[in-house]
Amino acid sequence: MSDVGARSTTGTETVRGPAEEEEVIIGLEVHCQLDTRTKLFCGCSTDYRDDGPNTHVCPICLGLPGTLPRVNRTAVEYAIRVAKALNCEILEESEFSRKNYFYPDLNKGYQITQYDKPLAVGGWLEIESDEGGEKLVRITRVHMEEDPGRLVHKGGTDRPKYTLVDYNRAGIPLIEMVTEPDLRSPKEARRFLNKLRATLEYLGVFDSEKEGSLRVDANVSIQPKGYFSIHGKGMKERGRVEIKNISSYKGAEKALTFEITRQKSMIRRGQKLGTETRHFVEARGVTTASRSKEMEQDYRYFPEPDLRPMQIRSWCDRIVLPELPDARRARFMAQYGCSLNHARTLTGELRLAEFYERVAPVDAALAATWVADTLLGELNYRDMSVATVSPDLFIALLTMLRDRVITDKSGVEVLRNLLDQLKDTGCCETPDECVKRLNLTKAGGAGLSGVIEEVISEHPRAVADFAEGKKEAFNFLIGQVMRKTRGRVDPVELNRALRERLEGV
Ligand code: ADP
Ligand code: MG
Ligand code: ZN
Repeated sequence: MSDVGARSTTGTETVRGPAEEEEVIIGLEVHCQLDTRTKLFCGCSTDYRDDGPNTHVCPICLGLPGTLPRVNRTAVEYAIRVAKALNCEILEESEFSRKNYFYPDLNKGYQITQYDKPLAVGGWLEIESDEGGEKLVRITRVHMEEDPGRLVHKGGTDRPKYTLVDYNRAGIPLIEMVTEPDLRSPKEARRFLNKLRATLEYLGVFDSEKEGSLRVDANVSIQPKGYFSIHGKGMKERGRVEIKNISSYKGAEKALTFEITRQKSMIRRGQKLGTETRHFVEARGVTTASRSKEMEQDYRYFPEPDLRPMQIRSWCDRIVLPELPDARRARFMAQYGCSLNHARTLTGELRLAEFYERVAPVDAALAATWVADTLLGELNYRDMSVATVSPDLFIALLTMLRDRVITDKSGVEVLRNLLDQLKDTGCCETPDECVKRLNLTKAGGAGLSGVIEEVISEHPRAVADFAEGKKEAFNFLIGQVMRKTRGRVDPVELNRALRERLEGV
């Protein structure tokens, strides 16, 4: 349908031959809350999520007249760590500016941010590309700013009756990172965000599990293939859409996927795409035209007169970064013999990497499979975090698997039981208790030979067939033992034991 549409279009779009394919262009603006103890310009606690509205405020973050901001040293240090980890050039001098606008989430009438002298420019982050290899996504700039307050609209989402405002969030330190338009698909955007999250967490400056700690504006357009790289930024044939305020990693991928479909169908119908701002409605998975156009205005930026410019180059040189995801991935391959895929998965999240290192001493290869494949799959299925699983518990399970006390199949059953208990009640049995309760101990040793004897006496015909050299008879007997033990025997062990028994007959 779409192909026919494209060729019969008589509107503003020209008919394209196969050589002129289209290309999706994506650039992201990511805001992350820095995980400091206090706010960016005052001493208010940042631990506001469990407390009532407007309980973490003071004259400074409420913007009362006569107060003066003072920069949180830790927040700047965290921002420098981020800029360095993103391979940016840290400017000799950076400065805070006022961005003036009138909106109730901003009690001062302006936001303190950075404008023409940001903290850092010109970096990159490496991600896995759609083609499978690695690719560099260029980082345009990294700057610091304060989070505005939070507005809660009441009485209908489309036309709220009234709006409540909570300034607990006002003044929380944010870091904004802008990418060049280097991403080519929603999946790549998702991978970029995951890598960015991992990097910030390894730096110890960000906690992705805190609600609302990450917000993304996603810019997307569709251009003739190659057009963008030839003509460069700004010379776009078609307008681009900025999707505002996406608040999750999955949300970014979903919003972009929806928006690309929408833009492609407009292009096919010969409609012209203008540059516009849209909002992502997470519940419906769609983007909607937003009225914020009317609000767009001249922000009248000017240098913040209450804060001196920062000269932080020499400080930067003294900051030493911890091991980052790529380095850890390489180490996991070298030290534990992980495959590239396992190492990538295991280092993709700080908590998971730390979990793996705790349990790896049992058996590095066994642990890699059980953490990266089995555990992660079961956690995702239940929408649980690895933080809820104690490494000691997993060590006990792995030890039973390594010592062949239980089969792999039983191991999965135990794990599922324990995770279900954890999810429901927050605690669970030990793997040992679970194995006993479910009667999963492998029928080995004395137990196994007992079952073999039973099977042999029940099937004299098959035993005789085996003696005459019929291979199928052996498999039949194996099957009978398996049935009696409900699969709780180690196949290798059973094979050996049965053969020894029969050949001794
Ligand atoms: P603005 O000043 O309007 O925010 P910028 O040039 O700073 O515009 O770009 C903002 C974001 O939009 C950046 O992440 C950039 O990579 C991205 N971007 C720029 N041009 C395009 C385009 N044609 N398609 C998709 N994204 C784009
Ligand atoms: Mg912008
Ligand atoms: Zn305050």
